Amino acid sequence: MTPFDVQTVRADFPILSRMVGDRPLVYLDNAATSQRPNQVIDAEADFYRLHNANAHRGLYMLGEEATELFEGARVKLAAFVGARAPENIIFTRGTTESMNLVAYGWARKFLKPGDEVLITEMEHHSNIVPWQMATQATGATLRYIPLTDDGLLDLSDLGSLLTERTKLLSVTGMSNALGTITPLALLIGAAHAVGALVAVDGAQMVPHLAVDVEALDVDFLAISGHKMLAPTASGGLYAKPEILEAMDPMFGGGEMIREVFHDHATWNTVPYKFEAGTMQIAQQVGLGAAIDYLNALGMDAVRAHELDITAYALRRLEDAGARIFGPMNAEDRGGAVSFWFKDVHPHDLATILNEDGVAIRAGHHCAQLVMRRYGVPATARASFYIYNTKEEVDALVDALARADGIFTL
Ligand code: PMP
Repeated sequence: MTPFDVQTVRADFPILSRMVGDRPLVYLDNAATSQRPNQVIDAEADFYRLHNANAHRGLYMLGEEATELFEGARVKLAAFVGARAPENIIFTRGTTESMNLVAYGWARKFLKPGDEVLITEMEHHSNIVPWQMATQATGATLRYIPLTDDGLLDLSDLGSLLTERTKLLSVTGMSNALGTITPLALLIGAAHAVGALVAVDGAQMVPHLAVDVEALDVDFLAISGHKMLAPTASGGLYAKPEILEAMDPMFGGGEMIREVFHDHATWNTVPYKFEAGTMQIAQQVGLGAAIDYLNALGMDAVRAHELDITAYALRRLEDAGARIFGPMNAEDRGGAVSFWFKDVHPHDLATILNEDGVAIRAGHHCAQLVMRRYGVPATARASFYIYNTKEEVDALVDALARADGIFTL
């Protein structure tokens, strides 16, 4: 593994040279959305400048180019997550749409009263609410794996939670609220042993860790492009081919049909039966460029860089008196670090930090069950990516010290 030069990476991101007042921007909200390098911005803009047409429709040069670029992005995304074939990837707007596609296309078709869906208290709302809706619609039951005090999944009762009644286990690969990396191999093995399928929320995992769906033997993987350098509304759902064949489409419309009659229609082949209407073509082309960028750095190097920054941030934040939620060992987590600092409300903290150019997130992070579990209404969260430096962690800690001064006056 060759480490990359962070300053060279930073030079690719025009937004990182912006100032906030007279302070350089320190962008630490990567778990919400990452920034985009010129390579991605150019790929999206060049699509519109040079190749724009609808995909899969035009029998003319631009139409063919647009289709080729769009399908090329599918090939790149499939390879990036280790899928055997590009047809195993459905393009979506990101993880929320992907999970809803599983909930509508698979769960509503196959769940019945008495069946169970098992999720965890660590999930983002986009991996909770679709299952509440699907279990309510089908008469199935939703159950939860609880959390330990130190932000891990509490698997001590897994045997009674995961049973032959469980039809689906849906779990995050990496928590956006706690940073926790979940033990996917163990969970997938245990779920398959009772005949359950496994969906993984890859919104935080795929941008930060090398993922191989074949090696994991995962059934569904939801992917967000906008957290991995790509345009908003890019991303996808990986699923095993036989599952995609069996699933119903969620949207009806153009392109997803083979034939339309007065009283019914037949479906196009996978993946197109799930891609009704005009897709987010330029955005997915941008995702292809983002994947090229990450591949050039190497995902092992991406992880190594983030481990280094995260370990440093955990140490510095703890020394500064912050209460950190989630694992204290950087190896067990990604770079989203949630904390409380003294008794300053996270919203006040984020506002004060902004005056120093430091952008962090404050809130429940769409993970209200996590907030409930640890008895807080919100946390402050700093989250790191390929372009963040230890100097930026220092800027965060300096800004916290200033906030402390303001609130202890
Ligand atoms: N799951 C997790 C763990 C997330 O962090 C997010 C984004 N905050 C989502 C799901 C939702 O992803 P998207 O915005 O792509 O729909």
